[in-house]
Amino acid sequence: MRPQELGAVGRGLGLLADTWTLLILQRAFLGVSRYAGWRETLNISDATLSARLRGLVDAGLLEPRSYADGGRERRGYALTERGGDIWKLLICTWDWEKTWVPREVPLPEIVHRDCGRPTRVRVCCAACGGAVGPRDTEVEREPWAPGLDRLARRHPRRTRGALPVDPLSFLPGAMEIIGDRWGAAVLGAALTGIRAFNCFALELAISPEVLSDRLRRFVALGVLSRSGDGEYRLTDKGRASFPIHACLVEWSHRWCGGDGAPIDLTIRHRACGQPLCVRLDCEQCGRAFARDSVSPVRPR
Ligand SMILES: [Zn+2]
Ligand SMILES: [Zn+2]
Repeated sequence: MRPQELGAVGRGLGLLADTWTLLILQRAFLGVSRYAGWRETLNISDATLSARLRGLVDAGLLEPRSYADGGRERRGYALTERGGDIWKLLICTWDWEKTWVPREVPLPEIVHRDCGRPTRVRVCCAACGGAVGPRDTEVEREPWAPGLDRLARRHPRRTRGALPVDPLSFLPGAMEIIGDRWGAAVLGAALTGIRAFNCFALELAISPEVLSDRLRRFVALGVLSRSGDGEYRLTDKGRASFPIHACLVEWSHRWCGGDGAPIDLTIRHRACGQPLCVRLDCEQCGRAFARDSVSPVRPR
Protein backbone atom coordinates (compact mmCIF):
# COMPACT_ATOMS: atom_id res chain seq x y z
CA MET A 1 0.00 0.00 0.00
CA ARG A 2 1.28 3.42 -0.89
CA PRO A 3 2.14 5.44 2.20
CA GLN A 4 -0.30 8.20 2.87
CA GLU A 5 0.84 11.55 1.59
CA LEU A 6 1.41 14.09 4.33
CA GLY A 7 -1.07 16.89 3.76
CA ALA A 8 -0.62 20.65 3.78
CA VAL A 9 -1.47 21.18 7.45
CA GLY A 10 0.71 18.27 8.51
CA ARG A 11 3.57 19.83 6.57
CA GLY A 12 2.92 23.28 8.01
CA LEU A 13 2.90 21.82 11.49
CA GLY A 14 6.16 20.05 10.79
CA LEU A 15 7.73 23.32 9.68
CA LEU A 16 6.43 25.79 12.23
CA ALA A 17 5.53 23.92 15.41
CA ASP A 18 8.94 24.21 16.98
CA THR A 19 9.84 26.62 19.76
CA TRP A 20 13.17 27.84 18.42
CA THR A 21 11.84 28.20 14.89
CA LEU A 22 8.99 30.39 16.13
CA LEU A 23 11.21 32.47 18.40
CA ILE A 24 13.81 33.04 15.68
CA LEU A 25 11.07 34.20 13.32
CA GLN A 26 9.57 36.39 16.05
CA ARG A 27 12.94 38.08 16.58
CA ALA A 28 13.21 38.60 12.83
CA PHE A 29 9.91 40.49 13.00
CA LEU A 30 11.35 42.56 15.83
CA GLY A 31 14.22 43.56 13.58
CA VAL A 32 16.91 40.96 14.19
CA SER A 33 18.75 40.05 11.00
CA ARG A 34 22.20 38.99 12.20
CA TYR A 35 23.47 35.91 13.91
CA ALA A 36 24.70 37.85 16.93
CA GLY A 37 21.28 39.45 17.37
CA TRP A 38 19.58 36.08 17.83
CA ARG A 39 22.45 34.83 19.93
CA GLU A 40 22.08 37.77 22.32
CA THR A 41 18.32 37.89 22.68
CA LEU A 42 17.53 34.17 22.75
CA ASN A 43 19.33 31.97 25.20
CA ILE A 44 20.26 29.63 22.36
CA SER A 45 23.39 27.60 21.72
CA ASP A 46 25.48 28.11 18.61
CA ALA A 47 24.76 24.61 17.39
CA THR A 48 20.99 25.04 17.76
CA LEU A 49 20.94 28.50 16.23
CA SER A 50 23.04 27.44 13.24
CA ALA A 51 20.88 24.38 12.65
CA ARG A 52 17.66 26.36 12.84
CA LEU A 53 18.88 29.14 10.55
CA ARG A 54 19.93 26.54 8.01
CA GLY A 55 16.55 24.85 8.32
CA LEU A 56 14.70 28.15 7.92
CA VAL A 57 16.67 28.98 4.77
CA ASP A 58 16.08 25.48 3.35
CA ALA A 59 12.36 25.84 4.06
CA GLY A 60 12.27 29.24 2.35
CA LEU A 61 11.23 31.18 5.46
CA LEU A 62 14.45 33.19 5.70
CA GLU A 63 16.87 34.15 2.98
CA PRO A 64 20.55 35.03 3.27
CA ARG A 65 21.30 38.70 2.90
CA SER A 66 24.84 40.01 3.09
CA TYR A 67 25.75 43.24 4.81
CA ALA A 68 28.94 45.24 5.18
CA ASP A 69 30.64 45.24 8.54
CA GLY A 70 33.65 47.56 8.66
CA GLY A 71 34.55 46.80 5.07
CA ARG A 72 33.97 43.06 5.45
CA GLU A 73 31.01 41.37 3.93
CA ARG A 74 29.00 39.32 6.39
CA ARG A 75 25.97 37.15 6.12
CA GLY A 76 22.64 38.18 7.57
CA TYR A 77 19.11 36.93 7.05
CA ALA A 78 15.82 38.45 6.00
CA LEU A 79 12.27 37.14 6.15
CA THR A 80 10.95 35.88 2.84
CA GLU A 81 7.32 36.42 1.85
CA ARG A 82 6.61 32.89 3.05
CA GLY A 83 8.26 33.50 6.42
CA GLY A 84 6.78 36.96 6.80
CA ASP A 85 3.31 35.57 6.28
CA ILE A 86 3.29 34.01 9.75
CA TRP A 87 2.80 37.46 11.31
CA LYS A 88 -0.84 36.75 12.20
CA LEU A 89 0.12 33.53 13.95
CA LEU A 90 2.71 35.40 16.01
CA ILE A 91 0.27 38.15 16.99
CA CYS A 92 -2.35 35.61 18.08
CA THR A 93 0.32 33.75 20.05
CA TRP A 94 1.31 36.96 21.79
CA ASP A 95 -2.27 37.92 22.54
CA TRP A 96 -3.06 34.50 23.99
CA GLU A 97 0.01 34.50 26.20
CA LYS A 98 -0.78 37.98 27.44
CA THR A 99 -4.35 37.10 28.29
CA TRP A 100 -3.90 33.68 29.81
CA VAL A 101 -0.46 33.25 31.28
CA PRO A 102 0.31 35.20 34.45
CA ARG A 103 3.90 36.34 34.75
CA GLU A 104 6.19 38.47 36.87
CA VAL A 105 7.41 40.71 34.06
CA PRO A 106 4.33 41.62 32.05
CA LEU A 107 4.45 40.96 28.34
CA PRO A 108 4.43 44.33 26.58
CA GLU A 109 1.31 45.66 24.96
CA ILE A 110 0.80 45.47 21.24
CA VAL A 111 0.55 48.95 19.79
CA HIS A 112 -1.39 49.58 16.59
CA ARG A 113 0.59 52.17 14.65
CA ASP A 114 -2.47 53.37 12.70
CA CYS A 115 -4.20 54.62 15.84
CA GLY A 116 -1.19 54.81 18.12
CA ARG A 117 -2.88 52.98 20.96
CA PRO A 118 -2.04 49.86 22.92
CA THR A 119 -4.64 47.36 21.90
CA ARG A 120 -5.85 43.80 21.82
CA VAL A 121 -6.81 41.61 18.93
CA ARG A 122 -10.30 40.93 17.64
CA VAL A 123 -10.37 37.88 15.38
CA CYS A 124 -12.71 38.06 12.38
CA CYS A 125 -13.37 36.26 9.13
CA ALA A 126 -11.72 38.10 6.23
CA ALA A 127 -14.47 37.01 3.83
CA CYS A 128 -17.52 38.30 5.72
CA GLY A 129 -16.16 40.24 8.69
CA GLY A 130 -18.07 38.11 11.19
CA ALA A 131 -16.71 37.06 14.55
CA VAL A 132 -14.73 33.86 14.67
CA GLY A 133 -14.28 31.32 17.42
CA PRO A 134 -14.20 27.54 17.49
CA ARG A 135 -17.97 27.48 17.86
CA ASP A 136 -18.48 29.65 14.77
CA THR A 137 -16.58 27.27 12.55
CA GLU A 138 -16.70 23.71 11.33
CA VAL A 139 -13.80 21.53 10.42
CA GLU A 140 -13.53 19.20 7.45
CA ARG A 141 -10.67 16.82 7.71
CA GLU A 142 -9.02 14.00 5.97
CA PRO A 143 -6.70 11.88 8.07
CA TRP A 144 -4.18 14.65 8.51
CA ALA A 145 -1.71 13.87 11.21
CA PRO A 146 -0.80 10.28 10.32
CA GLY A 147 2.52 10.73 8.66
CA LEU A 148 3.66 13.40 11.07
CA ASP A 149 5.93 10.83 12.61
CA ARG A 150 7.44 10.18 9.20
CA LEU A 151 8.78 13.69 9.01
CA ALA A 152 12.35 13.28 10.10
CA ARG A 153 12.91 14.99 13.39
CA ARG A 154 15.13 17.70 12.06
CA HIS A 155 15.97 19.20 15.39
CA PRO A 156 16.80 17.91 18.81
CA ARG A 157 14.15 18.64 21.33
CA ARG A 158 14.47 21.98 22.98
CA THR A 159 16.30 21.81 26.24
CA ARG A 160 13.88 22.39 29.03
CA GLY A 161 14.84 25.24 31.26
CA ALA A 162 16.69 27.14 28.54
CA LEU A 163 14.83 30.39 28.35
CA PRO A 164 15.16 33.39 26.11
CA VAL A 165 17.03 36.25 27.76
CA ASP A 166 14.70 38.95 26.52
CA PRO A 167 11.21 38.88 28.10
CA LEU A 168 9.77 39.80 24.69
CA SER A 169 10.52 36.26 23.61
CA PHE A 170 9.63 34.57 26.85
CA LEU A 171 6.34 32.91 25.88
CA PRO A 172 6.33 29.72 27.93
CA GLY A 173 2.60 29.01 27.78
CA ALA A 174 2.23 29.61 24.08
CA MET A 175 5.31 27.54 23.30
CA GLU A 176 3.77 24.64 25.21
CA ILE A 177 0.77 24.71 22.89
CA ILE A 178 2.42 25.53 19.56
CA GLY A 179 6.14 24.95 20.10
CA ASP A 180 6.21 21.25 19.41
CA ARG A 181 4.66 19.24 16.65
CA TRP A 182 2.81 16.69 18.75
CA GLY A 183 1.52 19.14 21.30
CA ALA A 184 0.17 21.37 18.53
CA ALA A 185 -1.44 18.35 16.84
CA VAL A 186 -3.09 17.18 20.08
CA LEU A 187 -4.55 20.60 20.85
CA GLY A 188 -5.56 21.04 17.22
CA ALA A 189 -7.44 17.74 17.44
CA ALA A 190 -9.12 18.85 20.69
CA LEU A 191 -10.29 21.98 18.88
CA THR A 192 -11.92 19.81 16.22
CA GLY A 193 -14.00 18.17 18.97
CA ILE A 194 -11.97 15.11 19.92
CA ARG A 195 -12.16 14.24 23.61
CA ALA A 196 -11.39 10.60 24.27
CA PHE A 197 -7.87 9.24 24.64
CA ASN A 198 -8.48 6.50 22.06
CA CYS A 199 -9.87 8.96 19.54
CA PHE A 200 -6.78 11.18 19.86
CA ALA A 201 -4.58 8.13 19.42
CA LEU A 202 -6.49 6.97 16.37
CA GLU A 203 -6.81 10.38 14.75
CA LEU A 204 -3.18 11.34 15.19
CA ALA A 205 -1.51 7.93 14.94
CA ILE A 206 0.50 9.02 17.94
CA SER A 207 2.20 6.76 20.46
CA PRO A 208 0.29 6.37 23.75
CA GLU A 209 3.33 7.60 25.71
CA VAL A 210 3.66 10.83 23.76
CA LEU A 211 -0.10 11.35 23.85
CA SER A 212 -0.26 10.81 27.65
CA ASP A 213 2.61 13.23 28.13
CA ARG A 214 1.01 15.99 26.07
CA LEU A 215 -2.43 15.51 27.63
CA ARG A 216 -0.92 15.65 31.11
CA ARG A 217 0.95 18.83 30.26
CA PHE A 218 -2.16 20.44 28.83
CA VAL A 219 -4.15 19.60 31.95
CA ALA A 220 -1.36 21.10 34.09
CA LEU A 221 -1.32 24.19 31.88
CA GLY A 222 -5.09 24.49 32.23
CA VAL A 223 -5.97 24.26 28.54
CA LEU A 224 -7.65 20.87 28.93
CA SER A 225 -9.52 19.45 31.88
CA ARG A 226 -10.07 15.80 32.54
CA SER A 227 -13.68 15.08 33.35
CA GLY A 228 -15.08 12.28 35.47
CA ASP A 229 -15.72 10.15 32.39
CA GLY A 230 -12.01 10.29 31.53
CA GLU A 231 -12.50 12.60 28.56
CA TYR A 232 -10.41 15.67 27.89
CA ARG A 233 -12.34 18.85 27.39
CA LEU A 234 -11.10 22.25 26.35
CA THR A 235 -11.20 24.91 29.03
CA ASP A 236 -11.84 28.56 28.14
CA LYS A 237 -8.08 29.00 28.07
CA GLY A 238 -7.73 26.09 25.64
CA ARG A 239 -10.58 27.28 23.45
CA ALA A 240 -9.00 30.73 23.32
CA SER A 241 -6.00 29.24 21.51
CA PHE A 242 -8.21 28.67 18.48
CA PRO A 243 -6.93 31.69 16.50
CA ILE A 244 -3.35 30.40 16.76
CA HIS A 245 -4.40 27.11 15.20
CA ALA A 246 -6.59 28.82 12.62
CA CYS A 247 -3.61 30.94 11.53
CA LEU A 248 -1.43 27.84 11.30
CA VAL A 249 -4.00 26.11 9.10
CA GLU A 250 -4.39 29.16 6.88
CA TRP A 251 -0.62 29.55 6.48
CA SER A 252 -0.26 25.86 5.67
CA HIS A 253 -2.94 26.02 2.98
CA ARG A 254 -1.21 28.98 1.38
CA TRP A 255 2.37 27.82 1.61
CA CYS A 256 2.41 24.04 1.93
CA GLY A 257 -0.50 23.06 -0.31
CA GLY A 258 1.55 22.83 -3.50
CA ASP A 259 3.66 19.93 -4.76
CA GLY A 260 0.76 17.54 -4.61
CA ALA A 261 0.22 17.91 -0.86
CA PRO A 262 -3.48 17.27 -0.32
CA ILE A 263 -5.53 19.69 1.69
CA ASP A 264 -5.97 17.62 4.82
CA LEU A 265 -7.88 19.97 7.07
CA THR A 266 -10.09 22.96 6.36
CA ILE A 267 -11.72 25.27 8.85
CA ARG A 268 -14.90 26.75 7.45
CA HIS A 269 -16.64 29.82 8.80
CA ARG A 270 -20.23 28.80 9.40
CA ALA A 271 -21.77 32.21 8.81
CA CYS A 272 -20.47 32.56 5.25
CA GLY A 273 -19.38 29.02 4.37
CA GLN A 274 -15.92 30.14 3.26
CA PRO A 275 -12.65 28.49 4.27
CA LEU A 276 -11.46 30.60 7.15
CA CYS A 277 -9.02 33.35 6.37
CA VAL A 278 -8.31 35.25 9.57
CA ARG A 279 -8.49 39.02 9.79
CA LEU A 280 -7.16 40.65 12.93
CA ASP A 281 -8.88 43.89 13.89
CA CYS A 282 -7.71 46.46 16.38
CA GLU A 283 -9.97 46.47 19.41
CA GLN A 284 -9.39 50.20 19.84
CA CYS A 285 -10.04 51.65 16.38
CA GLY A 286 -11.69 48.70 14.62
CA ARG A 287 -9.37 48.79 11.62
CA ALA A 288 -7.64 45.67 10.40
CA PHE A 289 -4.03 45.07 11.31
CA ALA A 290 -1.46 44.85 8.57
CA ARG A 291 1.83 43.05 8.88
CA ASP A 292 3.81 46.20 9.62
CA SER A 293 1.18 48.11 11.57
CA VAL A 294 1.69 46.50 14.96
CA SER A 295 4.63 46.43 17.29
CA PRO A 296 5.17 45.66 20.94
CA VAL A 297 6.05 48.44 23.32
CA ARG A 298 8.53 47.46 25.95
CA PRO A 299 7.57 48.06 29.54
CA ARG A 300 9.48 50.91 31.15
ZN1 LIG B 1 -17.13 34.43 7.13
ZN1 LIG C 1 -6.06 50.74 16.12
